Amino acid sequence: MSRIVYVNGEYLPEEEAKVSIFDRGFLMADGVYEVTSVLGGKLIDFEGHAKRLERSLTELDMTAPVTSEELLEIHRELVKRNAVDEGMIYLQITRGAPGDRDFVFPDPETTTGTVVLFTQSKPGLADNPVAKKGISVISIEDIRWGRRDIKTVQLLYPSMGKMMAKKAGADDAWMVEDGMVTEGTSNNAYIVKGGKIVTRNLGNEILHGITRAAVLRFAREAQMQVEERAFTLEEAKQADEAFITSASTFVMPVVKIDEATIGTGTPGPIATRLREVYLEESLKAAI
Ligand code: PMP
Repeated sequence: MSRIVYVNGEYLPEEEAKVSIFDRGFLMADGVYEVTSVLGGKLIDFEGHAKRLERSLTELDMTAPVTSEELLEIHRELVKRNAVDEGMIYLQITRGAPGDRDFVFPDPETTTGTVVLFTQSKPGLADNPVAKKGISVISIEDIRWGRRDIKTVQLLYPSMGKMMAKKAGADDAWMVEDGMVTEGTSNNAYIVKGGKIVTRNLGNEILHGITRAAVLRFAREAQMQVEERAFTLEEAKQADEAFITSASTFVMPVVKIDEATIGTGTPGPIATRLREVYLEESLKAAI
């Protein structure tokens, strides 16, 4: 059965959904995106994603073609029409299709942005067996551009990073710049040492994860110690625990970094607890 997707004001079967070949998202990666997870047919942290989207658009001088209220309505409609119980909603907004290729931004008065949303159903997302085993990561150099805080669709290097991990027999890659871990290819990176949770501080070097914000809030509420600072790859390899967070993996333990086994090689108590708390609290607040 084909999905119903949303394109510029219309709900259509996926086969009928079309975007212009002149779209700047296609020609220049001139677009931003968000991924919101769905659990029990409800949206997890929609408000956080809507706020970050607004920020990404503002940073790129892009005019939002839809309001946050309209986006919430579209998210809910897609969940309903596609009967999504567990999964994700992908949202992309580009600077639109001016009808010619030009580096200069088109006039937003005459070229409106392209808005696309679609669902990805993933039954078992919350009860993922991988979380009980943990994942392995390799380290790679972070050669992305300098505005990683903007959630753009320029995902070629993260995609190459996932391929490098796959070739090495690992699950993902952590990126390293000047000896310091920035983040995972599509997630934020954390270590735990002596009971303290350490994760990179916010700046232009990393994406300001919506899951990161929630997990750090829950950790602090549970009186866990949190330190937001850069850490080296060496420090990570000697940590008691490591984990990642993202909207689609929630909290996922990391048990191997390159050749180094982390802790006992099984998910640690803090990562395990944070995953439970995150799922529990997010479900309570889901809309
Ligand atoms: N960092 C990067 C580079 C990402 O692509 C993502 C997920 N899109 C994240 C971090 C995690 O962000 P979030 O928790 O908002 O999904």
